Amino acid sequence: MDSHTLIFSAHSSSRYSLAALLGAVETDHRLSELITEAPVRITTNKIRASIAKGSTIIAYSVMSTQTNRIYREIRYVREKFGNSVTIVGGGAHASARPLELLESGFDYVVVGEGEKTFPELLWYLMNGMDPIGISGVVGKETEDCPKPRDLEPVDLDAYPPFALGLNIVGPIEVTRGCPYSCKFCCTPFLTGGRVRNRSIEAIVHWLEKAVEKSGFNRTWFLSPNALSYGGRGRTVEPDKLERLLRTVTKIEGLEEVFFGSFPSEVRPEFVTKPILEMMREYIANKTLQIGLQSSSNRVLKLANRHHTVEEGLAAIDIALECGFIPHVDMIFGLPGETKTELRESIDLCYSLAGMGAKTHGHVFMPLPGSAFENEPPGRLDSESRRNLGELSRKKLLTGSWSTQESFAEDLSSRKS
Ligand code: SF4
Repeated sequence: MDSHTLIFSAHSSSRYSLAALLGAVETDHRLSELITEAPVRITTNKIRASIAKGSTIIAYSVMSTQTNRIYREIRYVREKFGNSVTIVGGGAHASARPLELLESGFDYVVVGEGEKTFPELLWYLMNGMDPIGISGVVGKETEDCPKPRDLEPVDLDAYPPFALGLNIVGPIEVTRGCPYSCKFCCTPFLTGGRVRNRSIEAIVHWLEKAVEKSGFNRTWFLSPNALSYGGRGRTVEPDKLERLLRTVTKIEGLEEVFFGSFPSEVRPEFVTKPILEMMREYIANKTLQIGLQSSSNRVLKLANRHHTVEEGLAAIDIALECGFIPHVDMIFGLPGETKTELRESIDLCYSLAGMGAKTHGHVFMPLPGSAFENEPPGRLDSESRRNLGELSRKKLLTGSWSTQESFAEDLSSRKS
């Protein structure tokens, strides 16, 4: 029998989704014959060698900031190999713009969460069956493209958080979905606002395996709002949070647990002294990632953020008091922000530095799927750029704000 090979692009922009999806693939017994490779660069030699052995599926998880690179690669693969490969896409941009992916050379697009749909699609392709009709799969013959909110949500406990067999690991996603509707964010579109928590039992199960098989001695958790773990997303559940931290920190061999630090974040109004004091007893991180986003209550309101600047500053004070270095997320150039408000947000970054906090800076990008997708891109003036550059050089500001400014322009120009 011919072999079947999956070549999944392992570009750094999609490493977390790659780990989760390949975890779902490697634990699906129907796919035990599938050869899976995850190269950082998909080379022609790799594709040629795979085609010589049998059928070849190439997969990408597509973020909106990566489309130019990925579409260029797809055009090249199509020119070289025509239809002798099947190309599959998924991820945030794919869910928002499935037809754009098809027009750019993809054969099939997975809309929404991939853990169930992607292995199913692979199984159909390996068996020569038409995958149109699998819930969440879009192809050229699809008449109505689904939206992620129309699809059945994935049960996180039914899938591993990463691919231990392939040694492709990352943070453990403990919570998926968010009940808030910040207009710059595509999480509500991608998850339909439905909050799900991975159970403590499942987290412990996978961590113990990771310690044993991959020599994990530290772990990170991924959540849109880490302090909401265990609930429906709008409240702190102190008992569940403490049980999670107490249980995972008892795992033998696991020396450090990072919680509430990048790539996770916490909403400011969830930060209280008792909660941070409790966390301090268990976690290894010295930083706490706090989403403030603007120094203007007017701009926060326009973005539907549902917290105030004062709540953000109070959270930063509490974090400092409890011995954390606050890393404060700020977005410059949000829709409706005036020049004065932009300057004030940057002034706040200087004040934060004076207090002992740091800023994680972003430039507003009109992301497909977000409520602000049709708003103009965030733009900095030369003085703002100079000030942010100075803060970066002094290591008081991190983040890809500079490249995001050009990504934002690019996203906006492609809409017209
Ligand atoms: S920015 Fe955070 S709080 Fe707001 S919708 Fe997105 S995930 Fe939820």
